[in-house]
Amino acid sequence: MTAIDLPMPGLRDVPRSEDRATARDYTSDQEVRWCPGCGDYAVLKAVQGFLPELGLRRENVVFVSGIGCSSRFPYYLDTYGMHSIHGRAPAIATGLATTRPDLSVWVVTGDGDALSIGGNHLIHALRRNVNLKILLFNNRIYGLTKGQYSPTSESGKVTKSTPMGSVDRPFNPVSLALGAEATFVARTIDSDRRHLTEVLRAAAAHRGSALVEIYQNCPIFNDGAFDGLRGKDEHRLVRLEHGAEVTVNGRTWVHDVHADDPKDAFALSRLDDGSMKSVPVGIFRQVERPTYDDLVREQLRAGGDAGDDELAALLRGHDTWTVA
Ligand code: SF4
Repeated sequence: MTAIDLPMPGLRDVPRSEDRATARDYTSDQEVRWCPGCGDYAVLKAVQGFLPELGLRRENVVFVSGIGCSSRFPYYLDTYGMHSIHGRAPAIATGLATTRPDLSVWVVTGDGDALSIGGNHLIHALRRNVNLKILLFNNRIYGLTKGQYSPTSESGKVTKSTPMGSVDRPFNPVSLALGAEATFVARTIDSDRRHLTEVLRAAAAHRGSALVEIYQNCPIFNDGAFDGLRGKDEHRLVRLEHGAEVTVNGRTWVHDVHADDPKDAFALSRLDDGSMKSVPVGIFRQVERPTYDDLVREQLRAGGDAGDDELAALLRGHDTWTVA
């Protein structure tokens, strides 16, 4: 296995390895504890199979997760990792990416963790364009807590917490990310390993925040949520390709992932009305912008020693308050 040949600005500062790693090298000795048939297995296999392509040293790869079934992910990879706080993985990963440009930092999260508990952190990581790759496993249910409706569950969903049906309108994670002007936004599905791997590859190459929504089946609490896109119905997947024509509501245009204005990508994200008759997958947007972590490091460099001295003086200063 050799390192992939693509320009990889997202990994510009991460040292390459001389050794040729394999999927086995990225597989930890921990017993995988997801339910039989869970879509998470397919994503894990794809990630373990794809990471060696990057040609990095495993000690320079970090996976940070929040809470939920998918957030067990870091245990199963033989890299650094952190199973962190509910919804806060993007915040922790932001600190890591900002202070350690020599790391490839990934976030693993679910629809509840990312869009409910951690909705704010996700939005700000995306708008700041931190050099993070965020894998959002969307199974449209809370699996770990045994089957409550989530922010992506369809209206009318009957669950233990909505016995008469959900009255919420669900989030569309791709629309949300585009609304936050994320620089890389994509969607894929657990059952198509080749497509999943292609999207992961492009996300890794991107410099800045990359949001990858992964449709993931939870056979225990929301089985078949994406059956309308598999097998004989796979033709309902609209595979987006840069430079190919797309049609939405009678308007046809050439899909340009690098378009500065996200409005066409947003229109594509609204193509599915919930019926799953036409569901776009692939890369919606991929544009270059300065990243938060690069800009912060630039400021620190510009501040130089004077900046360090000022900070030290501030920390040792006498401006303290006594609370009676
Ligand atoms: Fe997977 Fe669902 Fe089991 Fe969680 S509850 S491990 S998402 S099958």
